[in-house]
Amino acid sequence: MTLPDPHLLEPLDLGFVKLRNRVLMGSMHTGLEDDPRHFERLQAYFAERAQGGVGLIVTGGFAPNIEGWAAPFSGRLATRRAAARHRPLTQAVHAAGGHIALQILHTGRYGYHPLAVAPSRLKAPISPFTPRALGERGIERQIRAFVRCAVLAREAGYDGVEIMGSEGYFINQFIAAHSNRRDDRWGGSFEQRIRLPVEIVRRTRAAVGPDFILIYRLSMLDLVPDGSDWSEVVQLAQAVESAGATIINTGIGWHEARVPTIATSVPRAAFAWVTRKLKGQVGIPLCATNRINTPDVAEKILADGDADMVSMARPLLADPEFVNKAATGRADEINTCIACNQACLDHVFQRRIASCLVNPRAGHETELRYEPATRPRRIAVVGAGPAGLACATVLAGRGHRVDLYDGAPEIGGQFNLARRVPGKEEFAETLRYFARRLQVTGVNLRLGTRADAAMLRQGGYDEFVLATGVVPRDPGIPGAAEHRATGRVLGYADVLTGRVACGPRVAIVGAGGIGFDVAEFLVAGGHSTALDLSAWQREWGVTDPAIARSGLATPQPEPPARQVYLLQRKAAPLGKGLGKTTGWIHRAALRMKRVEMIGGVNYERIDERGLHISFGTEHAQPTVLEVDQVVLCAGQEPLCDLYQPLLEAGHGVHKIGGADVATELDAKRAIDQGSRLAARL
Ligand code: NAP
Ligand code: SF4
Repeated sequence: MTLPDPHLLEPLDLGFVKLRNRVLMGSMHTGLEDDPRHFERLQAYFAERAQGGVGLIVTGGFAPNIEGWAAPFSGRLATRRAAARHRPLTQAVHAAGGHIALQILHTGRYGYHPLAVAPSRLKAPISPFTPRALGERGIERQIRAFVRCAVLAREAGYDGVEIMGSEGYFINQFIAAHSNRRDDRWGGSFEQRIRLPVEIVRRTRAAVGPDFILIYRLSMLDLVPDGSDWSEVVQLAQAVESAGATIINTGIGWHEARVPTIATSVPRAAFAWVTRKLKGQVGIPLCATNRINTPDVAEKILADGDADMVSMARPLLADPEFVNKAATGRADEINTCIACNQACLDHVFQRRIASCLVNPRAGHETELRYEPATRPRRIAVVGAGPAGLACATVLAGRGHRVDLYDGAPEIGGQFNLARRVPGKEEFAETLRYFARRLQVTGVNLRLGTRADAAMLRQGGYDEFVLATGVVPRDPGIPGAAEHRATGRVLGYADVLTGRVACGPRVAIVGAGGIGFDVAEFLVAGGHSTALDLSAWQREWGVTDPAIARSGLATPQPEPPARQVYLLQRKAAPLGKGLGKTTGWIHRAALRMKRVEMIGGVNYERIDERGLHISFGTEHAQPTVLEVDQVVLCAGQEPLCDLYQPLLEAGHGVHKIGGADVATELDAKRAIDQGSRLAARL
């Protein structure tokens, strides 16, 4: 039999250990690392991914000491007692035929606590804490902490460690002149600035022996001013190889960089070319990272010789069986990571346990289980948006007989709009996954069928799940109703489906997630840079670090397709409620396209001239935005007219998603609620 992805599935022989394939599960902080009481959950989380076929798992970051903490009391490995608690984790991975390395993460000036240390007393723009500059003895203490942590990891049964040298953390802070202003032997020239990583790798290798995996995560593209140029990247890579590293993993961009590196609008495999540049410069395996989310993308990187391994972190949150599915010709069954960050990174920054928007079991493996139904029942699910799809497929997967109704000719609900937004093409993958999952689980799909209460009552069902979604809110602006008829006032669906083409000047009423999406759609003019790597690089100012230090160039965005005004009534900055790790990208993208973002407005009326607005309770500064169209993106109301009649007829009826609560509805809540209900019924 020919294997579907021969390069991806090829074992990697490191001399003293053989990895079963080329997939490295990249380090992803879940929050479970921070409290030993969560280790049973962490173990289940790793075990599922090892059972799913991952070659080498890298844990979320563990600090080697208190100064290296990400935040107070975050995960740390500094004592033998702590190491003993890791044993069940490593045993579970080994029992599943996998390998696991512990990531040693010293956050330096990114530490969210007053004990943070750094090469120089320079506050990071993304932290409120100013670090203490280390003296010679302090630096020695940090090196010893790294070495000790690695030794303890070995005692705990890990197959190796990853030394985190990128993303702007402690080690990276020493390497780059950006944050290292020292004039002793740890600063100044590049040779002196890389003394720290080289010492850490050399002394770690000496302490752990030759048969222990030592991954060094190397910042190949800093994307901040005064980072490394390419010759320095090569010099560092060769130095860490000589010092004893087994694998070099790729690091792209500091956390404070103003270039997106993993968001969904970043093209797939956008940085594989960086890893490729290092091929041939060192003899040890190189691992490519960032926005690698399907077996095809991973396979191509390996087949093209860009890297020897591929790192995937979030894709393995989304689907723990990624590798096994790829290996058995079932890539179309993979639940693909859409790079939204909404349940993983955004949770971590809110100090919540990471999960996954498309897979709510991630991080909750011990508690959210889809067990076979003890008494299979007939269940009608109404609405094939994310909530209904999740619910129907989990129910059917558990053995229930499920009919799924939707009045539309296709599945997807609001996801069908989202996937049309430039930079959100990945959302189509979720629909591909669900479409396949409906087939695999045997859901009876009844599209183009608007179910009414009478029809449902006669269907002989035991339970009903209403996932009928939302209707757009009418903000009741004077003149809007009559200008609906003239086409001057549009709903967001009119725009995103392409039913109506907009003119050169458009005002958007409402600056929530959908208002931002519509703005991005309107300024892009049909060209998505997420599908065009060189255009994306020009837009964000990313270039070859052999041409410009750190890979930073002057951004050269394409001019906007039209003038767009994005409006809200609140006086707060626009986009404040967007995702923690992605909101800044949406705001920056719209600024680049010269979108005028105006807060604190009153909508006075709409007429032939355009949208009349004013400001404040006094209705001051009356202004008319002379626009061709006004697009309403003023939020949603639940659509759930089947609930009462079914309930009154004495049936078991459940509401999920927007049909339940429309306020702040997003796909994360919809899929989570649908899946959890389906696990219970
Ligand atoms: P939303 O986020 O609740 O935003 C609604 C917008 O409409 C707000 O800007 C609000 O601002 C305005 N608004 C509310 N009532 C209004 C009224 N009566 N008259 C005029 N304006 C009014 O809703 P959405 O944009 O429809 O998004 C729905 C959900 O989908 C959100 O929860 C969102 O998180 C999710 N989504 C997320 C993304 C993403 O990128 N993560 C993208 C799309 C959708 P003012 O009240 O200040 O005017
Ligand atoms: Fe990927 Fe979004 Fe899931 Fe995070 S939450 S793993 S970005 S799909």
